[in-house]
Amino acid sequence: MSTYVLKGARILGAAASDVLVEDGVIVAIGPAGATSRAGAEVVDADGLVALPGLVDLHTHLREPGREDAETVETGTAAAALGGFTAVHAMANTDPVADTAGVVEQVWRLGREAGHCDVRPVGAVTVGLAGTQLAELGAMADSAARVRVFSDDGNCVSDAVMMRRALEYVKAFGGVVAQHAQEPRLTEGAQMNEGELSGVLGLQGWPAVAEEAIIARDVLLAAHVGSRLHVCHVSSAGSVDILRWAKSKGWAVTAEVTPHHLLLTDDLATTYDPVYKVNPPLRTADDVTALREALADGTIDAVATDHAPHSHEDKDCEWAAAAMGMLGLETALSVVQEAMVETGLLDWAGVADRMSTRPARIGSLEAHGTALEVGAVANIVLVDPSARRVVDPFALASRSRNTPFAGRTLPGVVVATFLRGRPTVLDGKLQ
Ligand SMILES: [Zn+2]
Repeated sequence: MSTYVLKGARILGAAASDVLVEDGVIVAIGPAGATSRAGAEVVDADGLVALPGLVDLHTHLREPGREDAETVETGTAAAALGGFTAVHAMANTDPVADTAGVVEQVWRLGREAGHCDVRPVGAVTVGLAGTQLAELGAMADSAARVRVFSDDGNCVSDAVMMRRALEYVKAFGGVVAQHAQEPRLTEGAQMNEGELSGVLGLQGWPAVAEEAIIARDVLLAAHVGSRLHVCHVSSAGSVDILRWAKSKGWAVTAEVTPHHLLLTDDLATTYDPVYKVNPPLRTADDVTALREALADGTIDAVATDHAPHSHEDKDCEWAAAAMGMLGLETALSVVQEAMVETGLLDWAGVADRMSTRPARIGSLEAHGTALEVGAVANIVLVDPSARRVVDPFALASRSRNTPFAGRTLPGVVVATFLRGRPTVLDGKLQ
């Protein structure tokens, strides 16, 4: 295995230093310019910020079943280019990842692709149908070692089913990740419910449909003494409930997507379905509350909800279009714009919310660890001073549905190392 010297890397934005990586491990960190090793490959990291490899709790890789939209190969390539060293692959594939066989298939495809670690998420209920608990124990015991369970795309709306799932995962330290959406309140929903949905004549998705489920589930999690994770929190009211639940000391964690940190519901006035997503883009006040909650730790993590959709499913009229947005290749840039350049988070904070905490929530060992001597070399090098215009056709994803097309975003991922091996170097997939 090769040896690398990352010359002049600013670990978590601190002073420049040299980082020596050998056999997949950080073996030395010294003053900038002072480290050399015979035969080592030198990576010029002058001016680059070094972060622990990013970890995504919420990625739709679409394989098996919708390989026209994404595959494990293309999705994990996108992840590596975005600075991720591990992703959690959501279960709403076809067939659904509700058995040991399917989660092992996804896990194996991830290993073969080799761009980043793939940890499959197991379905909570058989076929995501919400009526029968899936084989949670068998998935946990499988080679994929599933620890996160979610019916994402669907809400586990039956309170008894949710309670059973929370009870079941306790046995192996698992967590239930809830897509909080009260189904009856959101039938036919197209965008955030508010003045604008009335003006545009689009069926509203009221924030209370999310908040009501989160309120129920934090109470259930506390009652059962189990771990709840809330997916893609989108409203200020949800933040209030989470803050209250955390003040009680309950084992509740939550994520926010990059798009909910930057975009607002007024984009629906374009009727461009690239802005159609579930939960929907909300108001500027919601965005402010989400940013503050991520800054103060009420929201633990940024998760992409990377949701590739084929041209046929996405490029049609708003009401018929699929919900979802790409996220992996722009997540770090969006967080830099929304959180770092606004002074809400420093780079240590970004590392915590995009690597350390998501790794802990997903029970991923050897990810999200501090960049210090002896640590596994999962590292991303980002140039925070670079800017780029997002070009959907230049993305590694098989789909093109990025809401940031044509937008100039700060920060460019220069290199990603997975266990000491570059998956991305000079901004290019290796
Ligand atoms: Zn979801």
